[in-house]
Amino acid sequence: MWFLFGFPKVVYCDNMASLGISYDMVLGSLMPVVVYWVYGGMYMALGSCDNYRLHPKEDEDEKNFASKETVIKGVLWQQFRQFIATNLLYMMTGGSHGGASSAQPPSLTVIARQFVVAMLVFDTYQYFLHRYLHHNKFLYRHLHSKHHRLVVPYPFGAIYSHPIEGFLFDILGGSLAIFLSGMSPATSAFFSSFAAMKSVDDHCGLMLPGNPFHIFFENNTAYHDLHHQLYGGKYNFSQPFFAMWDRILGTHMPYSLEKREEGGFELQPAKECKND
Ligand SMILES: [Zn+2]
Ligand SMILES: [Zn+2]
Repeated sequence: MWFLFGFPKVVYCDNMASLGISYDMVLGSLMPVVVYWVYGGMYMALGSCDNYRLHPKEDEDEKNFASKETVIKGVLWQQFRQFIATNLLYMMTGGSHGGASSAQPPSLTVIARQFVVAMLVFDTYQYFLHRYLHHNKFLYRHLHSKHHRLVVPYPFGAIYSHPIEGFLFDILGGSLAIFLSGMSPATSAFFSSFAAMKSVDDHCGLMLPGNPFHIFFENNTAYHDLHHQLYGGKYNFSQPFFAMWDRILGTHMPYSLEKREEGGFELQPAKECKND
């Protein structure tokens, strides 16, 4: 996976430097996009993995309310908007602070602290916005329902959403997390890529043994899959990292995974889900 982090060097050239675009800016805006498709592609390459699926493979086409072609187009447009917004943010906040940080890179302790702060900020922002988008019927119908067209999530549908929602969740939320944590563009490239991987993983539809995201995060593929189900719209709003706000504010829904006879898992909420 580490070879990915050198990828933007392929596209960076002297003309960009003369336009005031630093290598770190290219890294920060391109790396998350590459990581998203490579990590999602890795899941696709694994095949259907029937013994570990939360839903039968054919349900991706039969139960979802958006075609894969529509989803791919929507995600590519979202990433294009994110690319522009990220570079605008770097320019407004002085991409040069990335240049300074490159000359004297922050210590690992500083980077770890910035990651924790950014994760907490991102999670807090996303929880309250996500919950409100479900609470407000107008906003749900016109914005957030687009993401919920995927009742059977799959890896590259992770950021499929209405453009306004994409702006609010990922562009604004991501920028806030990066800004408040004080990350340099270079560090933010790694943070945004990590968030992109986590988001893809949460939508991968597979409970593979040994998945590090499942070991370190309670908020995992099954946890978020429950929220995508028609019965789960009032639970498990937390995303993308921790489940703390669900636990604190009573929207946490535990679940069990039963083995299906035909292979894979059947996800069941541990308590009755109230939907009115
Ligand atoms: Zn939702
Ligand atoms: Zn989702």
